[in-house]
Amino acid sequence: MQQQILGLVTPAIAILFAMTFVMLWVRNRKASHILAFAIGYVALAVGFAVFHYSPDPNGAVATLVMHLVYCLSVSAICWGTGSRAGVRIRLRTIVTIALVSSAVIYMVTFSDNHNPRLYAANATYGLLFALTAQILSRSARNDTIDRIIVLLLALISAQFFVRVPIQLALQGPMLASEYRESVYYSMVIVSVAIVSLMLAMTLVTACVADQITAVRKEADTDDLTGLMTRRSFEEAAIEMLSSAGNTDTPVSLVVADIDHFKQVNDIWGHQAGDNAIAAFGRLAVGLTRDCDLVGRIGGEEYCFLIWNCDSASSVRLADRVRSRFATLAIDGVSPDMRITASFGVATWRTGEGYGRLFARADAALYRAKEQGRDRVVGEQVTLAPDIVEPRDLAPTAAVG
Ligand code: GH3
Ligand code: MG
Ligand code: MG
Repeated sequence: MQQQILGLVTPAIAILFAMTFVMLWVRNRKASHILAFAIGYVALAVGFAVFHYSPDPNGAVATLVMHLVYCLSVSAICWGTGSRAGVRIRLRTIVTIALVSSAVIYMVTFSDNHNPRLYAANATYGLLFALTAQILSRSARNDTIDRIIVLLLALISAQFFVRVPIQLALQGPMLASEYRESVYYSMVIVSVAIVSLMLAMTLVTACVADQITAVRKEADTDDLTGLMTRRSFEEAAIEMLSSAGNTDTPVSLVVADIDHFKQVNDIWGHQAGDNAIAAFGRLAVGLTRDCDLVGRIGGEEYCFLIWNCDSASSVRLADRVRSRFATLAIDGVSPDMRITASFGVATWRTGEGYGRLFARADAALYRAKEQGRDRVVGEQVTLAPDIVEPRDLAPTAAVG
């Protein structure tokens, strides 16, 4: 009776967590790994219930069903943790391990000695967890929660491998009929409850953290261009300046603004304007490196913070963006007209704050606008096109 009541603990915990995973999955149905965790925990509850409430728990049928359900549980959890980290755990490997171990377990069910059955079952689950921990440890994702998951999977694997030898050493061989009433079995119930609780709490934390990261990323990303928003750009820029100070690395800020943009909207419509804004964003990302920051800081205004780049190189980079943009075909804009942009560049001075650096780059941009637009103004240099063909947009341009 005691065992029957104790046996309810793990399925109850498992079902509660399965429900939590389902609720998390409903918020983000693309995250199939969360659904896999839910399936894993439902299967764990079913496996426990089969053994506990089956009239013949040690018979071949109950043993095999229970083993297969546990394999499903472990596999779903392992597959889910892999999928979350972007790593594929091969289903073929999992199914092979489950089938081979089921055959072994089936053969040893006819023996009165319960230990071979325990060895085979525990080794299977231990192997699946060990395999997943090993694959995950090589994954590119490596933040704290990922490391905790790998550590937990390794610990869970280890406890599957050690518990049967410990039982054998302490109590000697056990008959199948003694198993459910044994001290070992009570310990198994408690240890599975603790382990599955720890893993479930970690996985729930990981899923919630993933959702928070996704929401934050969405808020920090401009819809139209996919670039950083002003706020996220400024936050990242302040961090980059601090790294530049620590490592004595030159960084330069480029502020860009599309010329006569009001006219683009007025003449070709808002959609064409949007296309130009997005095209500029794609171009800027394409011409900068992953270590640089690119943000849309206003309607048709952009900032690039260029890492490890002195004044002359950053002016040249800005001029590459300028010249490429000026020849870019924009959807919805007549091909014989070109849209240009002006650029201001300032190189960071040690100890200077982001606000001051931005003010200098913005002042340079203002000079670029004043000097006629479609040019890059740096601290010592101005780069402008020699040939202004085809026609430029200008406030007085008659377009149509
Ligand atoms: P200048 O050469 O001096 O920069 O002239 P400008 O016309 O570009 O001047 P200004 O910066 O004042 O105009 C920006 C215009 O950009 C005004 C606004 O209607 C338009 N705009 C702002 N955000 C968006 C947007 O998301 N989509 C579109 N299509 N237009 C936008
Ligand atoms: Mg403008
Ligand atoms: Mg503007």
